[in-house]
Amino acid sequence: MDITIQTRLATLKKKHNILILAHNYQRPEIQDAADFVGDSLDLAIKATKSNADVIVFCGVSFMAEAAKILNPDKTVVLPDPTATCPMANMVSPTDLRTLKNKHPKAAVLAYINTNAEVKALADLCCTSANGVEMARSIKEQEIIFIPDKNLGHYIQQQVPEKTLILWPGYCHTHQDILPEDITKLKAAHPKAEVLVHPECRPEVIALADHAFSTNGMVSHAKTSQATEFIIGTEQGLCYRLQKENPGKCFYELSKAYCPNMKKITIEKLLNSMETLEPEVHVPDPIMHKAKIPLQRMMDLGRKTP
Ligand code: SF4
Repeated sequence: MDITIQTRLATLKKKHNILILAHNYQRPEIQDAADFVGDSLDLAIKATKSNADVIVFCGVSFMAEAAKILNPDKTVVLPDPTATCPMANMVSPTDLRTLKNKHPKAAVLAYINTNAEVKALADLCCTSANGVEMARSIKEQEIIFIPDKNLGHYIQQQVPEKTLILWPGYCHTHQDILPEDITKLKAAHPKAEVLVHPECRPEVIALADHAFSTNGMVSHAKTSQATEFIIGTEQGLCYRLQKENPGKCFYELSKAYCPNMKKITIEKLLNSMETLEPEVHVPDPIMHKAKIPLQRMMDLGRKTP
């Protein structure tokens, strides 16, 4: 990274007592600038353990909201407020209320990839790492799962004793990964282990050696005997994987690109550190209600990396 940028980052961090958090899908230069790189919940938890006054969250809006909900006394800044998650936007509070009315006995399990107003109506949150454990922990027989149909399908397979009612949402970045993309790469790299994210289509997951969350892929790559991996998730993760495992090879899917994650640039990051804007605000009543399912998930203590 350019020395001038490094100096500006260090000066602004000190001046405002800033913690920089970056999601695994961020650009390489943003990952290099961050204090921590990880998945959305990890980063929110990191924020709760920090003495920083300001959190600059390099990710998309639902993640910055979750950081604010869990850290209401800190200033949380999202360097580009238009960086939102299209999948999170696929379910509205009205949609969820309608579904709850149709299934009054069902509990609501909300993937962390939901907006705060939707979390406020949920019973429990989950990540892709702990979705199976969270579903098992629910005492109701019926579970409304929002918004990702692919992750919901994956959870349903692992938890057949429950009936999941799936919302038809999906992540374009993962939905666009097709079985032939995996088989082509596998033909070129036959020794490579195939790791895919559970937001992928079921037929893609069926071709994989493992389905993991992003942090699950990071842990597995470190301990696996394999030296080559095909990575079925947003390509930004490959930068972290390669950096942390210099002796191993990671083959990315160039089409697996999230334009919203890539909206955060170094210029926007520096600008937000100078101005402490755009700040993330969650209205108090939503903040209190949305914290309940998030806190429940954390209290269940079953999140695995
Ligand atoms: S990769 Fe998919 S789930 Fe993640 S922010 Fe982008 S659209 Fe949303």
